[in-house]
Amino acid sequence: MNQIENFLKKCPNCGAPVDEKDKVCSYCSAPIVLSEEVQKRLDEELNIYIKNAEEKLKENKNKYDPYIFGTLLITTSFLVIIYILMKNIATAPRIIIIVILSILSFAFWGILIEKSEAKAVKEFFEAELKDEIRNFIQEHQITFYDFSKRAGEILEKNARLRQFLF
Ligand SMILES: [Zn+2]
Repeated sequence: MNQIENFLKKCPNCGAPVDEKDKVCSYCSAPIVLSEEVQKRLDEELNIYIKNAEEKLKENKNKYDPYIFGTLLITTSFLVIIYILMKNIATAPRIIIIVILSILSFAFWGILIEKSEAKAVKEFFEAELKDEIRNFIQEHQITFYDFSKRAGEILEKNARLRQFLF
């Protein structure tokens, strides 16, 4: 870690401090490239960080669970009432009514849970993770584009972090 930081902030040839955007040292014109070993360690750190960031998003997706649970209770009560009312007037067999109501409620619950989780994840990202990632890429002297590119390569297709990438 220290080795990487030291390496990145100094010219490998003359030891002069270098800017992260410089391709060559402004003092001695030596190309500023990372050795294979340093690059490999940077890559490993980046991979671990990206996976941790995704885990944090997943851990924080349940913020609205109590709210969802309350809504599910209310919905279920409504469905039971509707069923009781309908069974007296509907000519269709009860089983069809039950099936239709069940499909509707599962669809509704699915949408509700997905929306609530997406909201919780977005809020957590904006409140905390965004700044953390900004600090990480600054410390490691990479760009957000680099970060996004790597995350795009190693994250699963349905990863929560994907929506916040470049
Ligand atoms: Zn130099």
